[in-house]
Amino acid sequence: MTIPLFYNRLDITSALNIVSDKTKVKKVSLPILSSSVFYEKETRIGFYKNMGGERKLSKRPQGVLCDISGVMKNSINGVDVAIDKSVEAFKRLQDSGVPYVLCTNESCYSTAVLAQKLRKIGFNISADKIVSPVSAIIQVIKENNHRPYVLVNEKVRGEFDRFDQSDPDIVVVGDAIDDFTYENMNKTFKLLVGGERKFYCLGRSKYYLESGELKLEVGCFIAGLEYSSQVKAEVIGKPSPVFFNQAASLLGMSPRDLVMIGDDVDSDVGGAMRAGLQGILVKTGKYREKDASHPTVKPTLIADNLSHAIDVILNSKKGY
Ligand SMILES: [Mg+2]
Repeated sequence: MTIPLFYNRLDITSALNIVSDKTKVKKVSLPILSSSVFYEKETRIGFYKNMGGERKLSKRPQGVLCDISGVMKNSINGVDVAIDKSVEAFKRLQDSGVPYVLCTNESCYSTAVLAQKLRKIGFNISADKIVSPVSAIIQVIKENNHRPYVLVNEKVRGEFDRFDQSDPDIVVVGDAIDDFTYENMNKTFKLLVGGERKFYCLGRSKYYLESGELKLEVGCFIAGLEYSSQVKAEVIGKPSPVFFNQAASLLGMSPRDLVMIGDDVDSDVGGAMRAGLQGILVKTGKYREKDASHPTVKPTLIADNLSHAIDVILNSKKGY
């Protein structure tokens, strides 16, 4: 499919919705496969276990990674709103003592601001329980004394002020939203072309949900820069297995003992399962019906919402 050239966010968003509609029309129903052997081969971990007709986790998770947007809360006209039953469900998880980390691709805010925003809508959470691409890339820059060129959201720009940004040796691109101008994209391209600088992207999700509308995310800008510069970006964030491993190491656990809860079938569930975790896809946030029959990602479990997912996880602790 040929997608026309865009110059503003509104055009891109409209086009995405058109593409989504066409995708829906062309959707092909896939057969439901019940063989546990098939799932094990397809996902390289676990398998569906049909007990009394209900899908359950194949293995008791020792810890939980949980996405934020679309799972714990949605954003409506720029205002965060907790998803129905999610505050109570999250408290049940905390009260259970099962270790957890929030694993987000949100690159517009620092983890301190993210925690503050979540507390405002009822979640009792501290910044040290959140892993984001921003916190992860800052760690990479610190450890390697990099001089970054950064094209990121203005709200998180200040997080990089502590670093020397003259004569950059790496390029970092996050969801810059309105700053994805021709001028900024071209400057970024010129730093990349020739392949002398390492290219990091803060997530590469295709789209997100805001006010009931799908909106374009950083992924297509990364793909465009890769296409023109011929330099492949290393993902800092979901779906990179490195990111899931970092989150697992924060809990001091093996990825195989963890479950990831997310609303993005590719970034959350696919990425987590490739890293060895179990993956629960929730039917909230950006979830669309077609995600349940994704051609390559077969979630360990599809749950109605966070509350349902937490119930299954906590019940699995009781053993079966
Ligand atoms: Mg999400």
